[in-house]
Amino acid sequence: MPELPEVETTLRLVRPGILGRTIRGVEVCWPRTIGGLGEHEFSSLVLGARIAQARRRAKYIRLDLERGSARTGYEAAGSILIHLRMSGRLLLGRRGAAAPGWRRVSLELDRGVLHFVDVRKFGRFVWTATPAEDLAHLGPEPLSHEFTAEWLHGALARRRRQLKALLLDQSFLAGLGNIYVDEALHEARLHPLTPSDRVSKARARELHQAIQRILGEAIEREGSSFDGFYVTPEGNPGAYQDQFQVYGREGLPCRSCGIRLIKMLVAQRGTHVCTRCQVLPRKLLARKA
Ligand SMILES: [Zn+2]
Repeated sequence: MPELPEVETTLRLVRPGILGRTIRGVEVCWPRTIGGLGEHEFSSLVLGARIAQARRRAKYIRLDLERGSARTGYEAAGSILIHLRMSGRLLLGRRGAAAPGWRRVSLELDRGVLHFVDVRKFGRFVWTATPAEDLAHLGPEPLSHEFTAEWLHGALARRRRQLKALLLDQSFLAGLGNIYVDEALHEARLHPLTPSDRVSKARARELHQAIQRILGEAIEREGSSFDGFYVTPEGNPGAYQDQFQVYGREGLPCRSCGIRLIKMLVAQRGTHVCTRCQVLPRKLLARKA
């Protein structure tokens, strides 16, 4: 499932092809993808609009639309919010070229076509008049200046939740999913079941560093491809899966200490742990025994 690095990579690669372009045609092949609006209404809201801005917030891609002309000036015309979910992809195609398989929505632009392809059909490509409100529930961006080690330590201490569940919660911190949470917790030597208010200041600093380093490197490597779904808009797999320390490596030796990694269920998600590198606080261990 695409997480922050995969969504960021997707945006970076399609942005030059769509920015400033005007939507000349709309084709909806799977109505559920566009949310509650009918195809006709969706088309009337986006046809003729220009893509003024394309950015990422958490795991969403937000395309801000505007209407008008250079002569009369431009006015905001809502936004398209795209969520890739399990298998969504954005692709740029040429007008008149054969459409890709599994496409759910296509926007014909004044130059090229933007396709939303989605094998599993959980992805969304919806128009909204209130993008800021729709995204207001999201926590800070982990690669922004807002996200500091001090903030993280304070925010963890104020909650009393299992670390893994809390880090997956998009209203706590935006953009992380199962892969990068497992990798970050291993790098920071924190057990996923650790109560968040038991994380020391020093360990919170390590976790902060791990999250930023791992996300930064994963973006550099254009994300992780491991389940056959995620490839970049150019059709290439990402390369960060080669760097995985724990994710998908259950039964294999930990690259730090050599013991066998295990997979356990935490927050209903398959969770990859080294029980030697990632030790639970002593009190919890005693209770478990
Ligand atoms: Zn280890």
